[in-house]
Amino acid sequence: MPFHYDKGEDGIVTLTMDMSGSANVMNDEYRELMGDAVSKLEGDEITGVIITSAKKTFFAGGDLNVLIAITPENASQALEGVEELKSQLRRLEKLGKPVVAAINGTALGGGFEIALASHRRIVLNDNSIRVGLPEATLGLLPGGGGVTRMVRLLGVQKALPLLMEGKQLRPERALQAGIVHQVVDTREELISEARAWILANPAPTQPWDVQGAGVPDLKFGDPNSYGLLAAAPAVLSKKSHGVYPAPEKIMATAVEGAYVDFDTALQIEGRYFVELASGQVSKNMITAFWFNLNEVNGRASATGQRVAKLGVLGAGMMGAGIAEVSAKAGIEVVLKDVSLEGAQKGAQGLEGITPTDSDDDLAGCDLIIEAVFENRELKNKVLPAAEAKALPDAVIASNTSTLPITGLASAVTAPERFIGLHFFSPVPKMRLVEIIRGEKTSEETLQRALDYVRQIGKTPIVVNDSRGFYTSRTFGTYVIEAISMLAEGVAPALIENVAKKSGMAVGPLAVSDEVTLSLQLKIHDQTVADDPSLVSESPAYDLIRELVSLGRSGKSTGAGFYEYPEGGKKFLWPELTTRYAKADAGVSEQDVRDRLLFVQSLETVRCLDEGVLTSVADANIGSIFGFGFAPWSGGTLQFINSYGVQAFVERADYLADTYGERFRPPASLRERDRF
Ligand code: NAD
Repeated sequence: MPFHYDKGEDGIVTLTMDMSGSANVMNDEYRELMGDAVSKLEGDEITGVIITSAKKTFFAGGDLNVLIAITPENASQALEGVEELKSQLRRLEKLGKPVVAAINGTALGGGFEIALASHRRIVLNDNSIRVGLPEATLGLLPGGGGVTRMVRLLGVQKALPLLMEGKQLRPERALQAGIVHQVVDTREELISEARAWILANPAPTQPWDVQGAGVPDLKFGDPNSYGLLAAAPAVLSKKSHGVYPAPEKIMATAVEGAYVDFDTALQIEGRYFVELASGQVSKNMITAFWFNLNEVNGRASATGQRVAKLGVLGAGMMGAGIAEVSAKAGIEVVLKDVSLEGAQKGAQGLEGITPTDSDDDLAGCDLIIEAVFENRELKNKVLPAAEAKALPDAVIASNTSTLPITGLASAVTAPERFIGLHFFSPVPKMRLVEIIRGEKTSEETLQRALDYVRQIGKTPIVVNDSRGFYTSRTFGTYVIEAISMLAEGVAPALIENVAKKSGMAVGPLAVSDEVTLSLQLKIHDQTVADDPSLVSESPAYDLIRELVSLGRSGKSTGAGFYEYPEGGKKFLWPELTTRYAKADAGVSEQDVRDRLLFVQSLETVRCLDEGVLTSVADANIGSIFGFGFAPWSGGTLQFINSYGVQAFVERADYLADTYGERFRPPASLRERDRF
């Protein structure tokens, strides 16, 4: 049986979870196994129970294939399943015998809920182990008693941030946070300490089952509790921006549960859980952050090679970041700039990075990444010079954000070994790398690039060559749409607020200032010069030109759409409103929102049609991690799914009739059921 039941001579039962798949997960099989195990424990003469796992992880959590299939129609059935699961854990903690979770691997979600229903939680001190309840990051709440137990264990003030942000903690941090009791160094100790604790605590009671216990910091009639409750909505809106139902329901579960007994609180939790699980946002987030993310991270590698020595050309903002993350992953890095001082500045004195001003130091590199100024002639010069020094089969990459890879590849002798590795700023923080295949890039080069991205712990998407690739091209439509609306007379504050309320990571005008308006103009003018058919006319460019001529080029120049007072917070340039905004621009708030989101989803469909994108996962992950497309929506294509393709097409047709042909849905979309 995949839950091994071993009773020692001392009467201690070790229950080793070893389900049929690669990990222990909460599904029908689990429910049956746990049900049988608890019944057997109840009927047996025992001293105590140690729960542990035969797998690499302790327990992976809920089975997402099951969770994503919960609908409003089958919700009551789902609720029954959750109730049974919780009653098993309740029986376990009320056996009258000590139960210890010997956490020998990562315990997340449902796995940590099993641990919470144990009287003692001992964790192996291993840096790869994480514990916690990350359900909120998938649009869910911990519905196996997790919210109720955490809130009663820690109080709402400490529990809510962990729950609402879905934090995963390393063992030591979990100990500090008070969610585990003990951390040990070896597997042997894990079991011996569990045994010792059982023998010393023959009949423990859970803190929430102690007479008169409740939520430590939320008591009926206590004025401090009311202060806490008064602050709660502000905390919530900061976390959820009104588009994430999970943090809202977690808070509601915690607060409503605080005024009732434990078992009633569990019922409240169950109802909210099913509400979230049957809702659209959890489907979107599970699709993106689980299925899509696993797909892009799991791309099989043919080479298994690791980069030993990396040469980075250009020690500016991007080059320095690329050198830093690579050195931290244990790769020997040579960082080259025109002057040694420049290279040293970029190297930041980090171990493993050799700053230089000479190509000779690139000898022996098996990967070169170019990150000099965005200038084709310059790149054409530095790339062959580096290629000549690197290993004969080295992969040569460019971090260009706009120049087509196929064109740059002609600068080197072996275009099949040339590829785009597009990082995002700031490099240490942004986890995405967009890998761009040029026309001649070989499959092996792609595989080696994928291996490198994985080696430095980032998430890759793979796209085919095109101007702006996928991310810059699509993000550009968002920014230009916003500026077009400004030119039409929509109030700038409305545009920024609606963008943020719709879940975009950054306001389009603020980010435009970051990128600098003059750079956007330069890219636009270059594109028009190369191929005018690539650019659709928009009043946005005249407005940008006007701001640049007024000396308002963006943040780096101290003024753009925003003012940047020294030492103060930025604010929208007041004259922007008086100059451009009209009292009634005739664009409703709903239209502002949909124009900002639809324009990106439609551009994504075009990228798919043109073969720039080859998978839905690349689109969803690239959009969320690359340019902060609303995570609640699950990404640019999942957004269309969740809208419903037909409804999306109808709405896009309306936007096209009203605001321009850029919103006209491509024919391919009209024929689709979903992505
Ligand atoms: P940057 O201006 O900060 O740095 C460029 C560096 O290249 C400078 O330190 C410069 O001295 C150096 N350089 C110039 N000529 C050189 C030469 N011959 N040999 C070696 N070094 C030389 O620029 P950045 O923002 O780091 O951008 C670099 C590249 O990355 C560009 O192609 C850019 O399009 C791309 N990129 C930028 C971002 C971003 O957000 N800034 C994002 C993705 C990609």
